[in-house]
Amino acid sequence: MNKQKKKRKGFNADGMRCPYCGGTVQYRSADGIYQDNQKGTMLYVCSHYPECDAYVRVHAGTKIPVGSMANHELRSLRRTAHHYFDQLHLTGYMSKQDAYQWLADIICAPLSEAHIGHLGEYYCKLVIEESRKLLDRSRRVKSIPRIQVLQGGAAAS
Ligand SMILES: [Zn+2]
Repeated sequence: MNKQKKKRKGFNADGMRCPYCGGTVQYRSADGIYQDNQKGTMLYVCSHYPECDAYVRVHAGTKIPVGSMANHELRSLRRTAHHYFDQLHLTGYMSKQDAYQWLADIICAPLSEAHIGHLGEYYCKLVIEESRKLLDRSRRVKSIPRIQVLQGGAAAS
């Protein structure tokens, strides 16, 4: 199933600029930024840190950022959005694949770009709102007994 022809997205951080202050961006360890960096996480950090608090981590073992740079406010919004979004598939309300398709539809982006790490404030808030609506609805549906889908066992407690 290896598609050799698949275009490899090269990532070049040289031209990367902080979206908040326009500063250059440094690739560095998260030491001193994360309270606990036992995993040795690497980040792209605004050169004006800590005055400008924008950064993004990379996928472990690569230099590819997991999304776009974000300041404190956006990072916590994304965390919240991810929390609610994850509930959509963790609760079994929909499959993970369907959840990402739903996300793509909500943010009007192709599936390949449907990642919370790419979202700005507006879409984070929208994802939080829409996820909560669905979760509310699913809770109501769940009060009616229905066939349980077994998901690797220990899901329900
Ligand atoms: Zn900056």
